[in-house]
Amino acid sequence: MKQARIIRKDPPLFTRPVRLAIVGGGAAGMFAAAVAAERRVPCVVIERKARLGSKVLMTANGRCNFAKDISAEQFLADVGPAAPFVAQAVRECPPRKIISGFKSLGVPLRRMADARMFPADGKAATIVHAFGDLLRESGVPILSNCPVAGIRPQDGCFSVVTKNFTLLAENVLVATGGASYPKLGSVGDGQRFAAELGHRVVPYRPGLIGIETSDQRVTRRAGRRFEDACARVVAANGDVLYEYSGEVDCETFGLSGAAIYNCQRFIEHLLRERPGLKPADLVMEAAFDRERVSVKGPRPRPLKEAIVTIGGVALDEVNPATMESRLVRGLYFAGEVLDVDGPTGGYNLTLAFATARRAVVSIAQKGRP
Ligand SMILES: Cc1cc2nc3c(=O)[nH]c(=O)nc-3n(C[C@H](O)[C@H](O)[C@H](O)COP(=O)(O)OP(=O)(O)OC[C@H]3O[C@@H](n4cnc5c(N)ncnc54)[C@H](O)[C@@H]3O)c2cc1C
Repeated sequence: MKQARIIRKDPPLFTRPVRLAIVGGGAAGMFAAAVAAERRVPCVVIERKARLGSKVLMTANGRCNFAKDISAEQFLADVGPAAPFVAQAVRECPPRKIISGFKSLGVPLRRMADARMFPADGKAATIVHAFGDLLRESGVPILSNCPVAGIRPQDGCFSVVTKNFTLLAENVLVATGGASYPKLGSVGDGQRFAAELGHRVVPYRPGLIGIETSDQRVTRRAGRRFEDACARVVAANGDVLYEYSGEVDCETFGLSGAAIYNCQRFIEHLLRERPGLKPADLVMEAAFDRERVSVKGPRPRPLKEAIVTIGGVALDEVNPATMESRLVRGLYFAGEVLDVDGPTGGYNLTLAFATARRAVVSIAQKGRP
């Protein structure tokens, strides 16, 4: 006769605090879990969506430009205002280390003429599956469909609160992403947790996004892409402040493409640095298809359509050597939840990977509480 199974009511999920709870299973969270497995840091990944890496799957139109084959120093020279904060993380986990890491996982890669790196089959799913396989083989538990509602310090540990259970963790890595493309899971929860725990959150701005114009030279070309193009940002006195050669796309709303994105991001950072400056003081010029279109006071598309969120957890309250909060011991941040963003070309995924690795390595190296 079969013995009846005794099912305890409301069983504890873990009997003691887990060493590391990784909140968010996107680019930073998956990389963090892979590093934790390599460094033998027991961890659990808690992901809001049904599967890991929803945003990674959408990167570069589903092709995933995960890095650029350049040196750490070139990367830091290109990255912009976050460079001093991410310098250690990027020097220890430079783009070329990420590239060789994917090669060692058996992912065939393709290098473009401009050094951007993609999986050779052009499928972002190949990158997400590589993480999935690694985490399964390493036995990293993944709790999906499981939005974290709050993170509370408790007796030297943290309560990580979800709808159905509370998990105790010695360390928490917040890797919940930015606030753009909320359908892909990143809804600004991590910034809310940080604020609840006393952190300052730098207001959001859309980054790497198209600009609006009704110029008919643009709208009548809607749907056309011009690879051999360029865009620049010009001040009221005619000074060229920033220039980028690359793709310009004509859309029904206006202009997009890598050259426009990088100029738009430059403008957002400039407006942030110089509070007196107004968008109307600037002009974005785009040269494509033998046209030169000027857009005065360029207006970006909304944050929800942006490739990256400018703003997030303030960097002066996070230790760049460890990614640990300077306010709450044991609380770490990685990826776009931080006030960190880069240009197009694989920089943002590399930033997520490198900051995640720095956080987990520092957790692995520190003593237990
Ligand atoms: C359309 C598009 C194309 C892009 N293309 C590129 C590209 O080609 N190259 C590049 O370098 N960058 C690209 N980016 C940017 C890049 O995808 C992000 O910068 C990167 O994914 C950020 O990594 P992250 O881990 O910080 O956040 P995400 O990858 O967004 O991951 C955050 C994760 O946290 C989860 N989460 C959120 N809240 C909770 C919660 N409360 N509880 C549990 N889990 C939670 C989310 O569901 C999500 O899975 C692109 C972005 C977009 C939108």
